Amino acid sequence: METLSLRLELMKPTETKKQMYQKMTELNTSFSNWLLRYEELSKATSKVYKLFSQEKLPSAVVNQTIREVKSKKKNQKAKTFRRFWCSFNNQNLAIEKENGLYKLSFPTLEKRIGVPVITEVYQQHWLDKILSGQAKQGAAELYEKKGKWYISLSISFEPERAASSSKVMGIDVGLNYLAVASVGTKTLFFRGNEAAFIRRTFSSRRKKLGKLKLLPVIKKSKNKESQWMKNLNHKMSRQIVHFAAENGVHCIRMEDLTGIRRKAKSKKEAGRNLHSWSHYQLQTFIEYKAKMAGIQVEYVNPHHTSQTCKCGHVDKKNRKRHTFSCIKCQYTLHADANAAINISKAISGLSKKKNKQAA
Ligand SMILES: [Zn+2]
Repeated sequence: METLSLRLELMKPTETKKQMYQKMTELNTSFSNWLLRYEELSKATSKVYKLFSQEKLPSAVVNQTIREVKSKKKNQKAKTFRRFWCSFNNQNLAIEKENGLYKLSFPTLEKRIGVPVITEVYQQHWLDKILSGQAKQGAAELYEKKGKWYISLSISFEPERAASSSKVMGIDVGLNYLAVASVGTKTLFFRGNEAAFIRRTFSSRRKKLGKLKLLPVIKKSKNKESQWMKNLNHKMSRQIVHFAAENGVHCIRMEDLTGIRRKAKSKKEAGRNLHSWSHYQLQTFIEYKAKMAGIQVEYVNPHHTSQTCKCGHVDKKNRKRHTFSCIKCQYTLHADANAAINISKAISGLSKKKNKQAA
């Protein structure tokens, strides 16, 4: 069995609901800390709650908290909990689907409520699997981050064996094309023009500001730029993983870029173009979303991925700018697509370092 957790944002909760979630959390936090100091914790059942307070807290939450505090005390000698989010087991949180909209229902301070959640395509895929019995629903946690409320839902499932029929997708990240994904005979390209243009604009604006020594403004502009890039990376990774899922991909392979910085063609390009952090960020987003979709991720050694032909011939001269053309067998295609294919085949082997990290 493998597990993963889905983060589902509650759709526009009213102020009253937000306050109630907050109150439940506060009550549950004090209860968890009370439990930590309760001498007969090991024998505690839901009845002990009455010794703690007269205020109402759903018994589903009480039971879950007792179970979790018991195991947390055993495992890590917890002293105090800063916050103890309310959780529900699979008996107490129900998933419903109505006209394509997903709803979660769970007990609260007043009554049981059903709330709609915002879902992405890959999350719908998992929720459908739970509803059809192909995956098992685990515990769910109600939590808040930056003013938004979420349910984190854990899921366990039997991984589909990557048999001989298993499909592998290779993804090359780079400068001219931010990402090129290849599976079988299909290829998905993400051009870098727009990103390069936006970043050049930001950078030249900053140069002018630099002369005026406007440091806070420069910093703000840098933040804006990285926020913009982050959004783009989110968008691309979502599309890539969607493309992989649509094509029945079992495993995504990418280059292990730790320690290497792709050589830019000129100093100008190096200064202005995408840097390794954004490649790394894109890979991280792809990995995270792929795992959510039940797709395995592997990293390969990056050596010779752009110089190797399918005939096996390795030569720097095989690549001329955006075109790959083998000097031995004349096989010709887009250079980044060739790299993505080589990555999918792991021609230089899997990276030991990175895969260990990821496991
Ligand atoms: Zn060749």
